[in-house]
Amino acid sequence: MISHRGAEFASLIERCTRGLQAIFKTSQPVITFAASGTGGMEAAVVNTLSPGDRVLSVSVGVFGDRFGRICRNFGLEVDELRFEWGEPADPDALADRLAGDGGRRYAAVTLTHNETSTAITNDTATLAKIVRDYGALALVDAVSGMLATEFRFDEWDVDAAVAGSQKAFMLPPGLCFVALGPRGWEAAEKSALPKFYWDLRAMKASLEKGQTAYTPAVGMMFGLDAALELILEEGVDQTVERHRRLAEGVRGAVEALGLKLFSARSHASNAVTAILPPPSVAADDIRKHISSRYGVVFSGGQAKLRGQIFRIAHMGAVAEKDMMAALGALEMTLAELGAPVELGSGVRAAQSLWLGGRLSPELVVAGVRQ
Ligand SMILES: *Cc1c(COP(=O)(O)O)cnc(C)c1O
Repeated sequence: MISHRGAEFASLIERCTRGLQAIFKTSQPVITFAASGTGGMEAAVVNTLSPGDRVLSVSVGVFGDRFGRICRNFGLEVDELRFEWGEPADPDALADRLAGDGGRRYAAVTLTHNETSTAITNDTATLAKIVRDYGALALVDAVSGMLATEFRFDEWDVDAAVAGSQKAFMLPPGLCFVALGPRGWEAAEKSALPKFYWDLRAMKASLEKGQTAYTPAVGMMFGLDAALELILEEGVDQTVERHRRLAEGVRGAVEALGLKLFSARSHASNAVTAILPPPSVAADDIRKHISSRYGVVFSGGQAKLRGQIFRIAHMGAVAEKDMMAALGALEMTLAELGAPVELGSGVRAAQSLWLGGRLSPELVVAGVRQ
């Protein structure tokens, strides 16, 4: 370890903060806490709101619901605007809801940039603008969306955004990153919800001295420094593009295998793909088999989607080769569980998409034969 009150740590956290600002696309300080993403969501709430405030929770899945529950746990008055799981949040519906708020004057609206439980990416730029035009704070959970999908903190003028180390940052769990915009910091001056560890103003004051308010997770910060170097070397936009490309290949493979995507294709996530199993096989049997036989871990459905879907993650330190392994293992798993499958058809579809769709699957095969 190094001293977290010394010069070496000061340059480490300064370098990390600059990297995070490049990723968030913001000139605001980005605060790093030792916590999971949920801690960062709590920080966004307790630093901007006060007892008696009303919040509109926009939710398209488990994490959207969680943001609303955090607000409710702090005694805020929370109304919900929920959309069917597998569908994105509809900007018109949000605009209508805010226009017809019945005098409830929401102080904040919670949004999910990328809803991991349903593999949906919301149109956060549009939703945040509607919230701003109404005059409430837009608090954005970008935990799994940051780096996997375009995010522009300053340009979209959001008031708070949260990211987490264990998603597209390709780090272990343990850090979350929180940024406030100008209105967010203004709100932090007045916010009267209880907080101590999560006090962003204390963290900002410490950051200006190259420190954190309380002991940081120094080891994780070494990892963050290394990850940011790799990410900035690849380029932030290029990292997002890699996620988009991998997601496109996985979706193409899944459809070529005759499986159905759970999520609306127009808003399908770059970070994770949610898939309905074939009628003859249970989603959790696919997960159990592919894990025990091939050492490939797929996630299951959460909450009311438990047992209904399986999810392939493609965020973080992953490339085409990893997805080819996962898709090949999926094909063998389906075959071994007795589902109709043409071996190689999913991998081939992904390969063809990654080759830029220049070659039809037949030509790719022919090319390999030559
Ligand atoms: C992972 C995740 C979180 C945070 O979860 P933690 O387990 O607390 O890190 C929040 N929102 C979304 C969309 C996520 O994917």
